[in-house]
Order: sequence, then structure tokens, then C-alpha cells
Amino acid sequence: MPAGRYAPSPTGALHLGNLRTAIVAWLAARATDRTFLLRVEDLDRVRAGAEAAQLAELAAVGLDWDAEPVRQSERTGLYDDAVAALRAAHGADAVYECFCSRKDIAEATSAPHPAPADDEGAPGPAGAAPLRPPGFYPGTCRGLTEAQRAERRRVRPAALRIDAARVAGLPEGEIPRAEAVDLLHGEVTGLVDDLVLRRNDGAYAYNLAVVVDDLAQGVDQVVRGDDLLDSAPRQRWLAAALCAARGEALPQTSYLHVPLVLNAEGRRLAKRDGAVTLEDLAAADPSWTPERVRDRLLSSLGLPPGPPADAVPAFARMLEDGSLPREPWVFDPAEFAGA
Ligand code: GLU
Repeated sequence: MPAGRYAPSPTGALHLGNLRTAIVAWLAARATDRTFLLRVEDLDRVRAGAEAAQLAELAAVGLDWDAEPVRQSERTGLYDDAVAALRAAHGADAVYECFCSRKDIAEATSAPHPAPADDEGAPGPAGAAPLRPPGFYPGTCRGLTEAQRAERRRVRPAALRIDAARVAGLPEGEIPRAEAVDLLHGEVTGLVDDLVLRRNDGAYAYNLAVVVDDLAQGVDQVVRGDDLLDSAPRQRWLAAALCAARGEALPQTSYLHVPLVLNAEGRRLAKRDGAVTLEDLAAADPSWTPERVRDRLLSSLGLPPGPPADAVPAFARMLEDGSLPREPWVFDPAEFAGA
């Protein structure tokens, strides 16, 4: 059965923005007859006790899930297999060791790029290099010899990166493009650099884990905050590469990147914006019960109050006629400060 999911990182209590996205993920799955799964993305930045607290907060606003939540920290074997499959299909160097620090990459990407080749392979006009987002990996370690790698390993442990051009069957150093289709944002196109699959502390990287898990769990509906919209094309690309390497069909995936909740300054809501978690809201004003918070979040989405199940028909209509809210919701602390 196809599935939707909510995949929190257990870094602390969920705030109103997280809870609102979780409610949308739940409604989207329920409105489309999907299983709803929870995945704990605990590959880094874990705070003790946060997982249990988050599950309790999700239950407190009326959400349920159809299977035991899985933890990424317990799925390393799946991520190992994915790297092995990419190497088996495209050669060992399709996943290569990278010794660059963030600083190295920032310096390399701020240096002027060589002009790209035009279609005939001749150098293009100066200054015509395609725009590369900050942090876009320039390929520094792609061509290292084994001797150079051995030398660098003595200084710094290696991360693992995918050679995107090689896996895409493009000439060395070319940059693949990828698309993802989002229910709110339409077709989103992005460039795919040699993304990190495993970090240099040995932990698998978010982009690999999320792709492997969504495929393994049958997730074909990805609902999350729109701060991750930029990641969708490359995750889609990586999913396609993995499926091709394994000889599997790539599932159609529908994405829904939900507008974030913003603070009064128009920035993404964060814990420092005051009482923004269930616990803090209730401490500031006991009338803000989880049910009342849930109703406020539903109304911010143009949905009726009550248990989330009551909002499923209205949400299904929104999905159908494309009237899902597109505007971010601005959190007003005064509203929650008590009467
Ligand atoms: N764990 C990510 C977060 O909490 C979400 C990742 C995803 O949904 O793909 O922001």
C-alpha cells in the first residue's frame, strides 16, 4: 500500500510549525487512502528524550500512525546496501572519498569558475558559468589518485560523495538537472552536484537516508516544510539512480512542501520566538490545551476544528481543486499570550 509519512528530527520539542506540517502530512495520507508512517530522523543532532516527547505531542494533537515508527539510526545496513548498489552499477569510483572541509568548498566555489564548454566542447564566453548555489560541490576530490587519497586519509577522515555525472551517464564534470513535481509549487528543477552520501564522521547523510527510506517504506507522498523544496529535485534524482542501479521501477512520488510558519519578522518560526511548543503554550496560558492548539492549526489551514479525521473531507477537496493554502501562516505571540 502506498504511504505518506512525517519524518521529524528528534532535536527537541515540536513547535507550532512542525505540528502544522505533521497535521498536513497526516491529512494528505488519510485523504488519499495512504498508510501513514512516522520516521525518526536521528542520524545527527539528537536530544535525549526528544523522540518520545515528539511522539506524545503528535498524539496529543490527534494524529496516529499505522506502524511502529522506524529510526534511521537502526537502518545503517540499508544505507550501506544503497552505496554498494550504486558502486556495483557504475564502478567503485561512482561513490568517491572527499576530504574537503566546508571552508575548502567555500573557497573553491568563490574562486572564478572556468568558463563552461559550449555544445562543441569549445570554451564558452567568460562569465557564462551557470549559477551554483552556495555549498555546491565543485568536484575537487573527484579525480584523486589512490596515492593522494591515502595521503589525505592520514589528515582527515573522508566523506563519501556520489559522482553525479558518471551515474547520470554524462561527460565527466557535467552537472545533471532533475525535476520533482510538487502539488503547490508545480515542477521544480534543480542542479545535482556530487552530493554527500556519508559524512566524514561516518554517519549517513540526510539526502541518502531519506531517499533510501522513502523507497524502502513505499512512501510515494512526501509532505514537509518548504525549506526543503530545493532538496526535492536531487532527492528525486538519487531515487531514480538507486532504482535504476537495482533494476527497480521508480515510483511516482507526489511532493507537498508546506509553507512554513513565520515569526513576526517574517523568518521561519523557531524556539527562540517564545512559547511555541505545546508545553510552553500551556505553561503560558493553560487554556491553550493541545486540542485548542490543534483547532487553531486547523483553522490556519482553512479547515474545521475537531479531531483531524473530521477535516479529511475538506482537505481532500482542497487537494482536488488545488486550493491548499499557499501563504505562510504568521505566528502572533499576542494571540497565544492569554486573554
Ligand atoms: N527530518 C527532516 C526535518 O525534520 C524532514 C525530512 C523530510 O521530511 O524529508 O526537517
